[in-house]
Amino acid sequence: MELMTNHFQKIFGLSKPILIAGPCSAESEKQTLETAHELKKHKNLIFRAGIWKPRTRPNSFEGIGFKGLQWIQKVKEETGLKTTIEVAKAEHVELALRHQVDILWIGARTTGNPFAMQEIADALKNEDIPVMVKNPINPEVNLWIGAVERLQDAGIYNLAAIHRGFFTYKNSKYRNIPQWQLALDLKRKFPDLPMICDPSHITGNSNHILEIAQKAMDMSYDGLMIETHIDPENALSDKEQQITPLELEVILEKLVVRNFEIDDKEFKATLNQLRIQIDDLDIELLDVLKRRMDLVEKIGHHKKENDVTILQNNRWLEMLKSRVKYGEEKGLSEVFIQQLLKAIHQESIDKQNSVMNKK
Ligand code: PEP
Ligand code: MN
Repeated sequence: MELMTNHFQKIFGLSKPILIAGPCSAESEKQTLETAHELKKHKNLIFRAGIWKPRTRPNSFEGIGFKGLQWIQKVKEETGLKTTIEVAKAEHVELALRHQVDILWIGARTTGNPFAMQEIADALKNEDIPVMVKNPINPEVNLWIGAVERLQDAGIYNLAAIHRGFFTYKNSKYRNIPQWQLALDLKRKFPDLPMICDPSHITGNSNHILEIAQKAMDMSYDGLMIETHIDPENALSDKEQQITPLELEVILEKLVVRNFEIDDKEFKATLNQLRIQIDDLDIELLDVLKRRMDLVEKIGHHKKENDVTILQNNRWLEMLKSRVKYGEEKGLSEVFIQQLLKAIHQESIDKQNSVMNKK
């Protein structure tokens, strides 16, 4: 069965982009309700709060647990907002359903754990509740796909994905690097799956929320999840990345929401012209790559005849250096050239390997 297109809009009558906001964690009844009351003016808003918090290290605030569910229920009664919480095991699912939570989400640490995902999927069998699936912590798109499939197999078709970035050992501007390509890979697998971006967990820093939120809008994401707390400085979890409801308003005012398509003839004609040129260039690019690979095969034969190894590291390092320099002069980024050359180099090695292994 197919995923329903933008079912979140259909279910709740919300328009794009859907906004999910609320604190990282429900900490007290007062903090939860005050935050919700400040947010209720946004008509597209779904209220989020973590009840059980999966923390990297023990002895951190691990969520308020069961009693927080009553606060979430109160949010619903007092503000009329729809609510969403994270579930990580069957017991959470049962309690959330019992407390009329409207939408569930699966956290990044759970998506990457097939046992937990299966337990949740089993607990959700025959339930009619939308579920959002965050990407796993590590950049393995198959875990994300697998989590969605487990839920589909349990008969849950009201699904969305939340892109919250991926862990990296490298020094990076962001807490979790976005790796937009991986989110696009998921989208390719499930074209109708609504995509929500979580700039809070991507950036880990309240100063960078807008830039990531804008990128997501530019890429036609269906919604945003932004951690919002009445007093971020004193938040019990993720305080560097939480913003106040007022700061959220400022961000929303600055955000440019682009149309996926517009019905303007001139716009379409110009876009088509540019796309035709891109199509031509891509063909040229592929032809050049084919010519390059033919040369690589010739080198492979030459090395084989002379009993020389395939990988010659000095040559590779020199190539990389000179190409990066040339590319940078042309305004292409170092990271891009490195990634491109690495992919080309890998294919070249594979080609030469197959020449070497031919009898
Ligand atoms: C959260 O949304 O507060 C959370 C714990 O997120 P993640 O699972 O993306 O780390
Ligand atoms: Mn958080």
